[in-house]
Amino acid sequence: MKLIFELDKPGRRGFSYGANDVSATNPLPKKYCRLNQAQLPCLSELDVVRHFTNLSRLNFSVDTNFYPLGSCTMKYNPKFTEAIAALEGFTQLHPLLPQLSSKLAQGSLEVLYEFEQLLKEITGMSAFTLQPLAGAHGELTGVMLIAAYHKNRGSRRKYVVVPDSSHGTNPSSAAIAGYQVKVIPTGADGYMDLEQYKKQLDNEVAAVMLTCPDTLGLFNPRIKEIADLAHNVGALMYYDGANLNAMLGKARPGDLGFDLMHINLHKTFGTPHGGGGPGAGPVGVNEKLVEFLPISRVIRKEDAVFALEYNYPKSIGYVAPFYGNFGVILKAYAYILALGKDGLTRVAEVAVLNANYCQSRLKEYYDLAFDKTCMHECVFSASRQVKHGVHALDIAKYLIDQGYHPPTIYFPLIVQEALMIEPTETESKESLDAFIEIMIKIAGLAEENPALVTRAPLNMPVKRLDEVRAARQPDLCWKKS
Ligand SMILES: *Cc1c(COP(=O)(O)O)cnc(C)c1O
Repeated sequence: MKLIFELDKPGRRGFSYGANDVSATNPLPKKYCRLNQAQLPCLSELDVVRHFTNLSRLNFSVDTNFYPLGSCTMKYNPKFTEAIAALEGFTQLHPLLPQLSSKLAQGSLEVLYEFEQLLKEITGMSAFTLQPLAGAHGELTGVMLIAAYHKNRGSRRKYVVVPDSSHGTNPSSAAIAGYQVKVIPTGADGYMDLEQYKKQLDNEVAAVMLTCPDTLGLFNPRIKEIADLAHNVGALMYYDGANLNAMLGKARPGDLGFDLMHINLHKTFGTPHGGGGPGAGPVGVNEKLVEFLPISRVIRKEDAVFALEYNYPKSIGYVAPFYGNFGVILKAYAYILALGKDGLTRVAEVAVLNANYCQSRLKEYYDLAFDKTCMHECVFSASRQVKHGVHALDIAKYLIDQGYHPPTIYFPLIVQEALMIEPTETESKESLDAFIEIMIKIAGLAEENPALVTRAPLNMPVKRLDEVRAARQPDLCWKKS
């Protein structure tokens, strides 16, 4: 497709209003006025409408196709939550209003308060901040809380421990917050090596960051022991809640021994994700950490009036402006209320069932990283296909040509040629079967005619890119030649 600038036909115009015949009472100060004409292309209205409509049709989304991007939980985003978040009573509220007059913002404050109560019940935590604006932001907030906790106890600790299957945001959040990272290898059974873990634990460890089920889709049956060992040396247990979809209504991080966690509302609670975001990453803590939570916090006073409270002298302060991504919180709140306890439990059951269905139907054709019952996602390796010169990347490109978003590839890092499939609970058996058939077809092509796979995509506007060059020398700015 051409850039809109390349469609420029000097002199061509869309609709224009007549000249303004009312003199401006408050003209813009000269220093803010443009000195030269903006270099905009000349186009008709129809040119512009077609250009952007056609561009929008190049988008890939959950609304158009199956999107099994492992660890990202690309479930369907129900539209009723959009309708609720668009209600004028919410959208027309000025963000400063709750600070100026909480009386005029009782409904919105109640949403924040009640949402926090629901998250507490779902996770077994004592309190939440709803401010963090993404999962990674939640992690950083969490590590800052961990630092505040140790500092308050007069304890100087240097390390955060993560397994080698951890999401990249775990070690990077720890490092940004000033900790050094110790990485524990995964054993032959697919679980964090417990002996290595024990060796690394001492009173210099501030926290252990884990996701459970982990990024291999496996639930660690020794999680309680892992938490006890950390607590014995005075370290805190951080739960990366990105994989909470597998546990809803079944188990609670708070009961498994975790002290704090984040939740990705845009994963577990069905709010839009990625380019369709924004997201939100509320952080929950147990009693040990409540006093350090960010301000402001929403409280319910004895007369049942909701208010913002700032009087927490040990708080780490603000981590985001205002109250977090309120619209996202509202959608997740509506989603949780609509599903209820039984509905949320069904989410976990069907998410796990769907992943195991994909795993069991595909394991004859692709090597499994660890052959065990999985939770919400299954991780294959394209190692068998690589023998014929077909890599995980080629499989991903071929799937794009067939109208599928590829699974996550080359992650977790410990699986060579990883293909990480997370179907989520929102897909029908028919959708799963159609995807599985394509995956089986690719496995066949890899053996019989690998060039058909390695040449893909053939039907996309952009084919294979020099990815290194695209990252190192990005061409982002159009210049008139
Ligand atoms: C998605 C994800 C994150 C980061 O969440 P964002 O909202 O994308 O910042 C962290 N850990 C795991 C396991 C994830 O899947």
